[in-house]
Amino acid sequence: MLNLIQEKVTLADKNWFQTGGPARYFAEPTNDEQFVAALEFARCQNIPVFVLGQGANILISDDGFDGLVIRPQLKEIVHATGEDGSALIEVGAGWTMHDLIDYCLEHGLSGLEEFSGIPGTVGGSVYINLHYFQYLLQHFMVRAKVIEHHSGAIKIVDREWFNFGYDQSKLLDKEHYLLSATFALKKISPIDVAYAKGRRTEIIRHRASRYPTTHTCGSFFRNFHDHEVTYTSAGKKMMFVAYYLDKIGVKGALKVGGAQVSWQHANMLVNTGTATSKDLIQLARKMQELVFNQFQILPQPECQLIGFKEHPLLRPEDVCVHRSTAKNDGKLQPSS
Ligand SMILES: Cc1cc2nc3c(=O)[nH]c(=O)nc-3n(C[C@H](O)[C@H](O)[C@H](O)COP(=O)(O)OP(=O)(O)OC[C@H]3O[C@@H](n4cnc5c(N)ncnc54)[C@H](O)[C@@H]3O)c2cc1C
Repeated sequence: MLNLIQEKVTLADKNWFQTGGPARYFAEPTNDEQFVAALEFARCQNIPVFVLGQGANILISDDGFDGLVIRPQLKEIVHATGEDGSALIEVGAGWTMHDLIDYCLEHGLSGLEEFSGIPGTVGGSVYINLHYFQYLLQHFMVRAKVIEHHSGAIKIVDREWFNFGYDQSKLLDKEHYLLSATFALKKISPIDVAYAKGRRTEIIRHRASRYPTTHTCGSFFRNFHDHEVTYTSAGKKMMFVAYYLDKIGVKGALKVGGAQVSWQHANMLVNTGTATSKDLIQLARKMQELVFNQFQILPQPECQLIGFKEHPLLRPEDVCVHRSTAKNDGKLQPSS
């Protein structure tokens, strides 16, 4: 236990924004038993747990995380054959998607290359049900091994257990963490491997030309759900949050301290080098206000906000209260 748990470990170098304060305790379990022991430690200390992947979809408070951060280094990989002849590959939650895609293509296994160029571990990717255009990670996952937060019990669960949706999985309730996932992939010929590798390169090139690739968490706000949207354009409900963010003209222009809206994508916030997490939060809040004042719809974060004592952004209920008591036509006052 003494070697497993470290104290006061910096997190700014372990997340994509490169901001935020330290973890009070930090552990990197390399097997399931160590993961169980780390959870047991948190239970004994009565402190919260945060399971960290590659830090590509999080913003950590400048005060850090006052609990135990577990960054799984579970790197086992096992091949099997499914009943339908498909290739099954069971992979530890600590694998990065980048390394996994390379590994699969080297072994003639196709499917996951559609997620090329997206940072993150298998754990973080199952958590959010990784998505790129029409592809969702749930389409490839058949089962998984998870650990229960409170009991430390380990169980094997199937895809249905996850209740997957857009930006949605059962892991969001933080009652379970992913230890490993099993993906069903297609065995392909050497010529098709060459084609898939070419496609991977092309996807990465395309992404690099369209989006910032460092010092960001990717899309900061999630797209809207059907029931949230009333605004239509050409007869279609506008679900894409980037549509609204483009219209308010913040791309490459709106800044707070060292935080700026990317010039490449209106839904991507970037640390230009000196940003604090507070700068990024204030910038995101301004974007919420601008969108709400123009379209009466409130963007909500896809980025996970970690270690904040109170939710630092506007929630729909804040806006309802504000609208009913506002003396300014329901408009939000700009935050300072
Ligand atoms: C440049 C850039 C581009 C991006 N493009 C896309 C994109 O096209 N599509 C897309 O879907 N996402 C995109 N993202 C977001 C990000 O890549 C994904 O959300 C990714 O899956 C995050 O994985 P992670 O390991 O970094 O998770 P982290 O950011 O470390 O954590 C995110 C969440 O996952 C949870 N988590 C991590 N590991 C586990 C585990 N083992 N068990 C349970 N929960 C866990 C964490 O607790 C946290 O709540 C992008 C991000 C960046 C920086």
